[in-house]
Amino acid sequence: MSPSNGVFDGKVAIVTGAAGGIGRASAQAFAARGAHVIVADIDFDHGHETVALIADAGGSAQFVRTDVSLPDEVHAMVNTAIRDHGRLDYAHNNAGVAGANLPVAELPEAEWDRVMNVMLRGVFLCMKYEIPAMLATGRGAIVNTASGAGLVGYANQSAYVASKHGVLGLTKSGALEYGARGIRINAVCPGTVWSPMVDAAVASYPGLQADLEKMHPIGRLGTADEIAAAVVWLCSDDASFVLGHALSVDGGYVVP
Ligand code: NAD
Repeated sequence: MSPSNGVFDGKVAIVTGAAGGIGRASAQAFAARGAHVIVADIDFDHGHETVALIADAGGSAQFVRTDVSLPDEVHAMVNTAIRDHGRLDYAHNNAGVAGANLPVAELPEAEWDRVMNVMLRGVFLCMKYEIPAMLATGRGAIVNTASGAGLVGYANQSAYVASKHGVLGLTKSGALEYGARGIRINAVCPGTVWSPMVDAAVASYPGLQADLEKMHPIGRLGTADEIAAAVVWLCSDDASFVLGHALSVDGGYVVP
């Protein structure tokens, strides 16, 4: 069950990759529950669109242009929360890119680096700078976006799959390091969810939508709002004993 409106009043949340898709839905969910949201993304126009959508709904948000693969920009993102609001309570480290569809032996090194830099180094850098800001108040919750591809393999997506497995490793190690100091770190593992990333893939490959639907025992793809509901729950006090967990929100795509 998702926490009710007002439960995050007075709190501050960072959401990376919040210019669209899952990140936008998550930013809206934090704001709807009363948090001020730092909308972080490389996409200036759509990032500002997310801020406007939140403001139109009566919420509070600001855009901070951030490339999560660059330490100075991630540091500045966190410093903005502290400088403007004096605190950081929640972070959803979610920015991501689609990987090239190639087998390992044909994958260019530059493509491996591109995917790893955003999705694994990016999550590492976010945690590295968010955690000290949360330690300052002795409380905080971080949710990293992994994937079903963080739990099982997927042919021709080695960089994406390896990065998402790595995100779960970071999540578990960080949870063990900081759980007793008031910071809960968890991950969500979405199945396939309608978003600009998936819309683009479905448009490029005829038959992909039907194939994807067959891979999800629930018989359909998910929505960004369904992932966002899990993210805000993991950050809420309703999940106060949940630590280092990889929560599948995937219509049964990965049933253990
Ligand atoms: P999306 O493409 O709609 O959103 C990704 C966002 O990340 C975009 O706004 C993009 O501008 C931003 N971004 C890319 N590189 C960045 C960088 N270097 N710094 C900051 N922002 C950057 O995709 P989505 O489907 O909403 O994906 C969000 C996350 O969910 C990703 O980590 C993705 O791997 C993961 N995921 C998605 C699905 C799915 O089916 N949609 C499934 C499992 C996991």
